[in-house]
Amino acid sequence: MPDPSPPRLEICNLTRAFGGRPVVDDVSLSVAAGQVTCLLGPSGCGKSTTLRMIAGVEQPDAGIIRIDGQPVCGDGPTRPPEARSVGLMFQDFALFPHLTVAQNVAFGLPRDRALQARRVEELLERVNLTGYGPKHPHQLSGGEQQRVALARALAPRPRVMLMDEPFSGLDNRLRDGIRDATLDLLKEEGTAVLLVTHEPDEAMRMADEIALMRGGRIVQRGAPYNIYNAPVDKAAAAFFSDIN
Ligand code: ADP
Ligand code: MG
Repeated sequence: MPDPSPPRLEICNLTRAFGGRPVVDDVSLSVAAGQVTCLLGPSGCGKSTTLRMIAGVEQPDAGIIRIDGQPVCGDGPTRPPEARSVGLMFQDFALFPHLTVAQNVAFGLPRDRALQARRVEELLERVNLTGYGPKHPHQLSGGEQQRVALARALAPRPRVMLMDEPFSGLDNRLRDGIRDATLDLLKEEGTAVLLVTHEPDEAMRMADEIALMRGGRIVQRGAPYNIYNAPVDKAAAAFFSDIN
């Protein structure tokens, strides 16, 4: 029997050139609710551009993006970023310094104070920052700020979370714990996650599925250990070779 529900996120034949040079070249992939797909590849291969098109801050030359089966770009009118139900986390996606932690988390929520307060409290508890609401970002460590950014991105319950190297600014000591906590939270919320990284070990640790990208194209897709054990070619094998 065919699966009646469409994937949470689906992109079909997404293409974008800059100055005549294709940077994202006929990329297709899908992510189910509660799944983490890692877009993995070396610097400059087109990962961020792909993510920016899904977020709606960059326009594709061609291709279709659907969320829960509804086209948000291509195949009909283009929805603006705020109408796509996507959450964003970037390495340098800074908190608003003049707002408190609670105000940062509440930023994208409807203006209902009681509802905001409840959701903010719930999320701060989930990221282990109960009681941090009145503080300002500069009073927090890098890892704590990252957890606030995660709470803020999750607050409006986005259907899709787009993460662009969100952990690369953290020191190694903190990174594993925050990665795991982030994953747990995203899975509990049932969000579909597309995580961009150039680090194979991060993809191996976090992904349900890896989409290996090179020169604007997806060259291999599959479960992490399948890709690791059976890389599609020598370049893919070399890319994975420095994992320990
Ligand atoms: P990645 O995230 O994999 O490192 P990007 O998607 O940021 O790669 O960039 C892919 C290529 O597209 C790079 O060569 C980059 O210089 C180029 N590029 C990205 N954005 C623009 C832009 N707005 N104008 C021109 N070139 C761009
Ligand atoms: Mg990038």
